[in-house]
Amino acid sequence: MRIVLLGPPGSGKGTHGKRLAAAQGTPLISTGDILREAIEQQTSLGMAAQADVKAGRLVADDTVLGLIETRLRMGDAKKGFVLDGFPRNTAQADGLTRLLGDRKIDRVINLILPAETVVARLKDRWLCGDCGTIYNMKSAPPKVPGVCDKCGGKLKQRADDEPATVRTRLEVYEKETAPLIAYYRRDGVLQNVDASGTPDKVYALIERAIGKVAA
Ligand code: ADP
Repeated sequence: MRIVLLGPPGSGKGTHGKRLAAAQGTPLISTGDILREAIEQQTSLGMAAQADVKAGRLVADDTVLGLIETRLRMGDAKKGFVLDGFPRNTAQADGLTRLLGDRKIDRVINLILPAETVVARLKDRWLCGDCGTIYNMKSAPPKVPGVCDKCGGKLKQRADDEPATVRTRLEVYEKETAPLIAYYRRDGVLQNVDASGTPDKVYALIERAIGKVAA
């Protein structure tokens, strides 16, 4: 299946996307992860994207569409994918439609979470520098402080999770990305999911939404 995860920062796209992609046997494609990796490795893509990512602004559409085009051409994406963080505006959604040609997006899962919950969640979010597992110091802490339960890696915070940058990311989401809800509703593939519950509860709702034909 070709699935898009939509939702504000901190709504769980990464956490649930990972689980969903594993269940579907398809890759999770996260433009945020690809950009952060490029920044860490100081590639030319990373250098070009660095200032925007740090400030919580969108990276140029051409840049992101180029990296998605390359990624979707890889063999593992042929039978489907889960997209996290892309598309992020209508120009990117149109670009994706063009790239897919006669292949269609099967489901768009819209994760709904109030802005105040986003700010609170991201303040306490830590992730493993090695395997990317996400923790919340209040609701889902690791067993040993600062150490990943899964691989023993060192936990870190994302530079753009500090409250001022989170506010910018939320503004960008409202202005640029939220219009995609109506965009995909028109296509008949949108499913809304309440993202405020526990991870297991939200994931169960996502599974149900994946199985449903859009209303
Ligand atoms: P979140 O959804 O938690 O805000 P992401 O990891 O998806 O975070 O993205 C982090 C940053 O990477 C964004 O704030 C933006 O600068 C950049 N980015 C990620 N995906 C895109 C995209 N599709 N278009 C433009 N910029 C992007």
